Amino acid sequence: MSTTLIFATGNPNKVSEISAMLDRNASLQIKSLADLNFTEDIPEPFGTLEENALHKARTIHQLYQKNCFAEDTGLEVDALNGAPGVYTARYAGPEKDPNKNMDKLIENLAKHTDRSAQFRTVIALIWEGKEYLFEGIVRGKILTQKTGNGGFGYDPVFQPDGDSRSFAQFSKAEKNEISHRAIAMQKIIDFLQNTFA
Ligand code: IMP
Repeated sequence: MSTTLIFATGNPNKVSEISAMLDRNASLQIKSLADLNFTEDIPEPFGTLEENALHKARTIHQLYQKNCFAEDTGLEVDALNGAPGVYTARYAGPEKDPNKNMDKLIENLAKHTDRSAQFRTVIALIWEGKEYLFEGIVRGKILTQKTGNGGFGYDPVFQPDGDSRSFAQFSKAEKNEISHRAIAMQKIIDFLQNTFA
């Protein structure tokens, strides 16, 4: 099977993470929005990750009439009742500054002993006109300070269960072994290989 899919994201970190994963799954080829010269920011106006992911996928599907998928990710902190959740990117303001976001999170958790959290990714796939949703979750905890220089977003304050390092101390390949996005992406790969092989 050889399948081309458009990944409806403008975030080069995500394309590079998934491309690294696909080296092991060469039958699936990803085209990014940059490959299509699409540079607009698709809005994420809804109250759930699922609705936002579907909205992005539908926008690109309507424009290009091609199989495509989009994802939305949230950091859900137990002691904060699942916040920042769908507002993860804009937690500390519309400028989406990762450092300010992490500072705000550390501050808001200062008085809590339960620091457990999860990254949750929802991927919406539009394949041959039908819509499918996939989910990937990685559980962990929020550190009391930023640690490590790799990754992006909240990686310096997120430590996955079973490891003593933050995600920012993982190599790209190591993160792809266990990350929320990798889990959701593997579900798409399995789905396509099982259904359309
Ligand atoms: P979005 O899915 O691009 O809207 O991301 C939502 C928020 O989650 C942004 O603040 C991202 O930086 C953050 N985020 C998404 N994926 C990751 C990740 O793998 N590590 C750390 N932060 C992430």
